Amino acid sequence: MTLEREADVTVPEPDDAFRARLREFLTLHHPGRPPKDPRERLPWTKGWLATLFDHGYAGPSWPREFGGMELSFAHQMVYTEEMARARVPGPLGTGLNIAAPTIIKYGSQQQKERWLAPMLRGDLVWVQGYSEPEAGSDLPSLRTTARREGDEYVVNGQKVWTSHGADGDVIFALVRTGTRESRQKGISYLIIDAHAPGVQVRPLRDLTGGHLFAEIFFDDVRVPVADRVGDENDGWRLARTSLGHERAAGALLQAANYRRVLTELEELARERGQLTDPLVRDRFVDLEIRVRIIRFNAERTIGGILARGDAGAASSVSRLLITAFEQDIHEFAVDLLGPAGLLGKSAPQAVQRSRWLLGFLRTRASTIGAGTTEIQLNTVAEQVLGLPHDPGMPPR
Ligand SMILES: Cc1cc2nc3c(=O)[nH]c(=O)nc-3n(C[C@H](O)[C@H](O)[C@H](O)COP(=O)(O)OP(=O)(O)OC[C@H]3O[C@@H](n4cnc5c(N)ncnc54)[C@H](O)[C@@H]3O)c2cc1C
Repeated sequence: MTLEREADVTVPEPDDAFRARLREFLTLHHPGRPPKDPRERLPWTKGWLATLFDHGYAGPSWPREFGGMELSFAHQMVYTEEMARARVPGPLGTGLNIAAPTIIKYGSQQQKERWLAPMLRGDLVWVQGYSEPEAGSDLPSLRTTARREGDEYVVNGQKVWTSHGADGDVIFALVRTGTRESRQKGISYLIIDAHAPGVQVRPLRDLTGGHLFAEIFFDDVRVPVADRVGDENDGWRLARTSLGHERAAGALLQAANYRRVLTELEELARERGQLTDPLVRDRFVDLEIRVRIIRFNAERTIGGILARGDAGAASSVSRLLITAFEQDIHEFAVDLLGPAGLLGKSAPQAVQRSRWLLGFLRTRASTIGAGTTEIQLNTVAEQVLGLPHDPGMPPR
């Protein structure tokens, strides 16, 4: 596939009537500003997700059968733009974008009925247990084992860098059911109750002082065989499932969010009288061009889905563009604010409760999570440029 061919695809025009209805709903039911106390944020977000679900405004790309909206792409674009504009909280955990497409595609009917709606409604937070201390980019070397005993697996091992791990109720995990040397041929996809005996979650403190991640230990954890998705030893193929719709919607949501963030930074620079500085203007022009490219590339991802049924390599390009952009915009913001930009949020002179400094610290990890920049570059090299496959990585 070539980038030129994807760029030819036109994206349908958004629908104004749907936008108006959604805007009215968001005005009527907006949850307000997030609570200051971090302990109140989880129930507050869950309350909002339940409101969305109960009013039929959750899961824009999900099948209706599982509580979703099953929207067309044009409507999904409107949906993501309006959600970004309203600044309402997004989904909790990582299940919605990663586990749900796998369950929709490979789960049994009983599994779908049991897991999907409560995940979408935010009743249960799903977290991803893939990475291990010695298995990140090279995930097929993972060592957490699941030994079969009758109609149960006994799971032992450790996961690390689990986003939202401390809030997790359910872990969708890759575990080794084959021999130690079986690599991707001996991996299964298990759904593990995070509150089961033998599961220990230890939050990890990050650069911002928060606990975004956790490490999770499994010590003889018993998991029903019925909670395996797909066949035994077929988990690697399953883990690679994602609905192109979800990826495209995610890229669009980020494009819409960063459009708003850039406008807010411009307003801040204007208030501080910095927009007359030619060097500052130059940086803004660069970011403006990039935020538009991000949007066009997200549309191109959707165009690819409409034309061929899959997102194609444009989604890897999206991630590269977005992760570099979000690091650069925060770095620029901290430069722009000078010493005040380095103050912690409890300092009286802190600018906008240190959001730019926190963003600067938080986005250091953007080029690592969900596949490092180097791995994404490999994907682009192989899938877009047609270069030879990296011999150190498992076959695609
Ligand atoms: C914000 C964030 C959220 C995350 N959330 C989760 C989560 O919810 N669940 C989960 O399971 N994991 C999660 N992770 C873990 C993440 O998937 C891994 O950190 C990532 O895959 C890299 O693995 P690693 O840290 O072991 O680094 P390594 O794989 O050890 O990589 C170290 C360095 O070597 C480079 N490298 C490795 N292999 C190659 C290659 N073949 N070619 C070129 N360069 C290479 C890498 O790019 C990197 O610079 C998260 C990480 C972050 C930062």
